[in-house]
Amino acid sequence: MKSAITGGAGFIGSHLVEHLLAAGDDVAVLDNLSTGRIENLAPVLKNPRFTFTEGNILDRRAVDSLVRGADRVFHLAAAVGVNLIVEHPLESLRTNIHGTEVVLDAVLDAGASLLLASTSEVYGKNASDSLNEESDRILGSALKSRWTYAAAKGIDEAFAHSYWREFGLHVAIVRLFNTVGPRQRGRYGMVVPRLIRQALSGEPVTVYGDGLQTRCFSYVGDIVPAITRISAEPAAYGNAYNLGGSHEISIMTLAQRIVELLESPSTITLVPYEEAYAEGYEDMRRRVPDNSRSRALVGFEPKTTLDEIILNVAAEFRLGAGGRASQPRAAAVAAG
Ligand code: UDP
Repeated sequence: MKSAITGGAGFIGSHLVEHLLAAGDDVAVLDNLSTGRIENLAPVLKNPRFTFTEGNILDRRAVDSLVRGADRVFHLAAAVGVNLIVEHPLESLRTNIHGTEVVLDAVLDAGASLLLASTSEVYGKNASDSLNEESDRILGSALKSRWTYAAAKGIDEAFAHSYWREFGLHVAIVRLFNTVGPRQRGRYGMVVPRLIRQALSGEPVTVYGDGLQTRCFSYVGDIVPAITRISAEPAAYGNAYNLGGSHEISIMTLAQRIVELLESPSTITLVPYEEAYAEGYEDMRRRVPDNSRSRALVGFEPKTTLDEIILNVAAEFRLGAGGRASQPRAAAVAAG
């Protein structure tokens, strides 16, 4: 099987590359190395079944040459991370909307199937007990750049769905809920690597707002096999699938657990949102997935515990790469 991945040098993309190579696929990656990092691909760069091209998804020729001959394409390239989106809303809109259109057209012409990585952000402020794929989207003002990512990913999903309905494109969508794990960096938001790095270096651990907002963190090692299985299911075409963790935790409790587990001398500091982000920032109070649809389709069960996640991420930082690499070279592609 030939797989092609946009954003394959990013956090999730690079884990997907390894997973697909281990399954016997030939794998080609296109990544502009903005938020993606070539170091993430170090374990596979010499693999004869792997090819890497530095390029942008806005460049149709680059995308055409990536997907030519591919059986399936994973579209993970996107401008991600709250900080990046708030600081560069226009670039984010262009990459996340027009870039996806370029990929959809190229994949349709190439006759491949497509897996589109979307995000739990599309649900916006919907704080219901358990978000299923048909749940309403509740977004703030269109003029607040904080919502740019959710708006763009919603459009991406609508495009993908329409390509399936009108052109018969074999495309499935996954909505990722706070995927975490080794290789994720905190520069553009991303609470888990930020707090672990702070705890390891003895700096104050920064909890934004009152710390009572909750998330369900999922481990990249649980998510990547599920993404792969969904991509191979014809029943998934035209549909979206939640993939998230099963344990809801407040950010304050997360911070306490990180400090405790890593035996850190750090104190925990509450940082008002206005200091952490631009003024007027709206956070999500809660985000809890209903994974029933992905469980029914591919048996998805998140297995890795939060403690295991924290220890795995800390182990990577302790190895040395993490501390330095928390300042990536520049801005841009990875996954949702
Ligand atoms: N957060 C925090 N301290 C940090 C970074 C983030 O308290 O140093 C909070 C953030 O405000 C949000 C949660 O952690 O409530 C998760 O943030 P992240 O950017 O990881 O994901 P998302 O907001 O997309 O769920």
